[in-house]
Amino acid sequence: NEPVCECNTCYTGPDCSQFIPHCTADANSGDPLFLEPFWMQHPTSSALVVSGWHRMSYDYDDNTQISRRLESLIRKLHAFVGNAVTRNRYIVYGAGSTQIINAATYALSPQNTSSSLSPTRVLASVPYYSLYKVQPEYFNSEIFKFEGDAYTWKNRSDAGPSTNVIEFVTSPNNPDGQLNKAIVGGPNVKTIYDRAYYWPHFTPIPAPADGDLMVFTLSKLTGHAGSRFGWAVVKDESVFNRMISHMQINSMGVSRDTQLRAFKLLKAIQEEGTGIFDFAYRTMKTRWERLSATLSLSNRFSLQRFNPQYCSFYNEIRGFSPAYAWVKCEREEDKDCYAVLKAANIIGRPGNVFGSEDRYVRLSLVRNQDDFDILIHRLQKLVSDEDGTK
Ligand code: PMP
Repeated sequence: NEPVCECNTCYTGPDCSQFIPHCTADANSGDPLFLEPFWMQHPTSSALVVSGWHRMSYDYDDNTQISRRLESLIRKLHAFVGNAVTRNRYIVYGAGSTQIINAATYALSPQNTSSSLSPTRVLASVPYYSLYKVQPEYFNSEIFKFEGDAYTWKNRSDAGPSTNVIEFVTSPNNPDGQLNKAIVGGPNVKTIYDRAYYWPHFTPIPAPADGDLMVFTLSKLTGHAGSRFGWAVVKDESVFNRMISHMQINSMGVSRDTQLRAFKLLKAIQEEGTGIFDFAYRTMKTRWERLSATLSLSNRFSLQRFNPQYCSFYNEIRGFSPAYAWVKCEREEDKDCYAVLKAANIIGRPGNVFGSEDRYVRLSLVRNQDDFDILIHRLQKLVSDEDGTK
């Protein structure tokens, strides 16, 4: 059989050279295929062949479901990048950070032994990643409940110090890329630091993160979102044990095949020194510069701003190179920014998904080069048409 050649998103024809004029720019999901070219340059070091007999057991040799060799590689990687303290901390794995986030919420919510104890309130400051809301709502647990915006909670009169609270702090934040800090404090407040984007790809690294519970994912580090591998770095032994117990009941730990793949990929990264970080930063920086240049000509749309910061990994002051653009429609009448962009054939994600106003839209910048080029093409057209539609 002839190999079937797949055309890029907006091209068709036998040699994929015909541009589809009304093709839509998909800037919705955070599918991190911007890293695909890096792996295409490293086909051998990242390849994995697994014989049928290999790793059939539920357990590793030490009777756990956590590969110690992978764990030690993760610790080395954090030490090399300087983005997290792992000394004297425990490490738990999950099927992506999605499962880790659920395990952490469960582990930090005190058991509801008496019916008078109200559920732990789960908070995140707007704009927040929607999973923090969707997951508790879906699981409908008696011990934790999503309560909404952390700023609003802080100013509420019934937010007494005796209420148990979990605050999600996403840093860099999804959708706006800012290095968020915790805003709710108190004796009964626990913080989950979602560090999915705390890699030199997206942000300067001012110092190693040192939170009690920090969440990371392979998805935004190597781009292997489909392997479903995330981890948490946990200070407290009892929290760690509760997370392990959750993982046990939920899925008997993370697929051993996934752990093997994660190991192979992290090993390949390690062999390249700063290679993947240089590639990822260069790619994301170029994209951010192209996007900023395009929207700088616009009075209708604006972008989030960043102050450059010292990066300990590159040992210099660096700008941000965020995973997402958090676009604001400035005109009074453009209340539904998603609809404004959709009319121009651009699919983003509406502000309300992040607990925010619909005057905002998130555009994903981590997709493949083709998706990004089409996005820029569509935005350029929209901006150049601005005067005519004012
Ligand atoms: N946290 C944040 C902030 C994210 O943006 C994402 C994915 N977009 C996740 C967690 C979940 O990613 P995964 O389950 O692939 O690790």
